[in-house]
Amino acid sequence: MLLGAPGVGKGTQAELLSERFGACHLSTGDVFRAAKSLNDAERSPAMSAALDFMRRGDLVPDETVLEMVRERVGCLQCQGGFLLDGFPRTVAQAKALQTILHEHDLELDAVVSYELPIAEVVSRLSGRRTCPKCKAVYHVTARPPRQADVCDQCGGTLVQREDDRPASVRVRMEAYEKSTAPLAEFYRQQGRLVPVLAEGSPEQIFERTISALAK
Ligand code: AMP
Repeated sequence: MLLGAPGVGKGTQAELLSERFGACHLSTGDVFRAAKSLNDAERSPAMSAALDFMRRGDLVPDETVLEMVRERVGCLQCQGGFLLDGFPRTVAQAKALQTILHEHDLELDAVVSYELPIAEVVSRLSGRRTCPKCKAVYHVTARPPRQADVCDQCGGTLVQREDDRPASVRVRMEAYEKSTAPLAEFYRQQGRLVPVLAEGSPEQIFERTISALAK
């Protein structure tokens, strides 16, 4: 499981880690973003409400998130293992996850907690650009694409996520401090927490993660 503030680089690390280990990458944020492209008739009322929470930067209610994770429980049973990114985000979700894992005879190997000062997190979020087609992630100064606003991998036009705009970023950081930060203590008490400094390039952070997991 990957923990850490929004913008700390969990998504990028999740991609690198799932490539290395062949694990199934489950990102609840990606699932909600995918639901955005469905039309109203294809979207359940709970999902439409979830998208309103997301737009504002608020957390989606636990019940909706858990229903979605339960629908994807096959991902947790992948042969190469699973990698959770952006879930759980509240202690209630973490407790429900324990039940789901227990029901399927699965266990969490480690909880990687990416750590970075808040000012740096805010700068990463506001400069982040993503490709809506292939999900590649860039940063206007720290990881720019070869050609401005064009994805190196698929040629798609890069966009700023709605919830990376300043008003939503403020709400997201508050939600993180209040609801998600306490999860580090929850997993520290279980002896599963692996703290990793999230400074430097994605490759450096990846190498740091691998060494921390090997200890
Ligand atoms: P992310 O891409 O992980 O930063 O998620 C984007 C947004 O999706 C968050 O700001 C929330 O609105 C929503 N979201 C994603 N995962 C969760 C979760 N586990 N619990 C509540 N809301 C979530």
